[in-house]
Amino acid sequence: MLTNDELAKWDRESFFHPSTNLGQFARGEGAQRIVKGAEGVHIIDRDGNRLLDGFAGLYCVNVGYGRTEIADAIAAQARELAYYHAYAGHGSEAAITLAKMVMDRAPDGMARVYFGLGGSDANETNIKLVWYYNNIRGLPQKKKIISRWRGYHGSGLMTGSLTGLELFHKKFDLPLAQVIHTEAPYYFRRPDPSQSESSFVGYCVDKLEALIKAEGPDTIAAFIGEPVLGTGGIVPPPQGYWPAIQAVLDKYDILLIADEVVTGFGRLGSLFGSDHYGMKPDIITCAKGLTSAYAPLSGSIVGQRVWDVLMQGTDENGVFGHGWTYSAHPIGAAAGIANLKLIDELGLVRNAGETGAYLNAQMRAALGDHPHVGEIRGEGMLCAVELVRDRDSRTFFDASEGVGARIVAAMLKRGVIARAMPQGDILGFAPPLCLTRAEADTIVAAAAESVREVLG
Ligand code: PMP
Repeated sequence: MLTNDELAKWDRESFFHPSTNLGQFARGEGAQRIVKGAEGVHIIDRDGNRLLDGFAGLYCVNVGYGRTEIADAIAAQARELAYYHAYAGHGSEAAITLAKMVMDRAPDGMARVYFGLGGSDANETNIKLVWYYNNIRGLPQKKKIISRWRGYHGSGLMTGSLTGLELFHKKFDLPLAQVIHTEAPYYFRRPDPSQSESSFVGYCVDKLEALIKAEGPDTIAAFIGEPVLGTGGIVPPPQGYWPAIQAVLDKYDILLIADEVVTGFGRLGSLFGSDHYGMKPDIITCAKGLTSAYAPLSGSIVGQRVWDVLMQGTDENGVFGHGWTYSAHPIGAAAGIANLKLIDELGLVRNAGETGAYLNAQMRAALGDHPHVGEIRGEGMLCAVELVRDRDSRTFFDASEGVGARIVAAMLKRGVIARAMPQGDILGFAPPLCLTRAEADTIVAAAAESVREVLG
């Protein structure tokens, strides 16, 4: 067997890691962890550390690690039919069954699901659907997409453009011209501290409407948003935000794409964030929770009004020319079926709501009064602790101080993984939906001790 040192050397010399400081890593200076196994809510690395994964991988291992039901379903599928494509009307029992299961769970008004591989390609698909839709409707100029600052929608050319985080644009010549960004519904960082929550919602809505008018409503095709901002800081929307946004979109004939890659299949304590917040999307993106990351699979769930136009389009133009080799991959589909069954059997949507509320309440009890904690917020099995230099004036630490990253490192020493969110000093928590109260207590204790270790 390879020694840890040999493997670490191969890693530094051969492996181009995503979202990593390349120079530091190659020089052996950056973090390096080789994960060997996992069970329940813990991962185990090659150095023998057992870590409580407070972020469920990248908020995706929703049912927890080591579920033999899903592993067995994948193995059985690989033996029976590892692959066949889904072009030109082909399918597999697994893909068809999963499509039916997704549609049975999807919010009202949805018509079909298109399967891809991950959240980014699903959102790429969604933008192509929207463009196709408006071309068929004879509105070729209606193509721009509005996204929000701090939104996260992927790392592709279009999806990286939709993402409203500087890190994903800088030096990549993004965003592309068809993408425009509007205000994030981030009440804690509202521009005017005297704004009430409802006046801040009015402010976001006014900003959106002003942008639509300035660009011209007939040039804008769709608005994309996560029900709860995820990677941009784990920010639930202020009360009334989604219905107010929806009214503006309806007024100007703009489609709504709900990016439910994080929130789909239970993370908020509801099956979909769209249901949770009363959104009426035209397209829903899902990925992570669809298979709990046991195999890559994503879905674009298409609403009836878009579907009707797509049908009309292919009657006029023939084949709908969009597909991946691995669309509806049978192994991903088998993982998805077993995963959705487990979510039902174990009552994980309910647990996400209940234990998630407990996690948030305990975090508030432990850290709510700390002078450097500006806000603790969350919804379902999502929680964020936002750190500030000064609470009263809402001033923030300088990024160069790396406060969030230092606290996350202090938590790791205590055996708990949290995520330093990429923009601001925000500790993010998104544990598997099967978290127990005792495990929530472990996360909270590690967070509280680490905040005090780093900030006093
Ligand atoms: N949308 C959202 C809301 C996400 O959080 C992510 C991934 N974190 C994506 C899209 C992109 O998914 P993927 O990384 O699977 O391409």
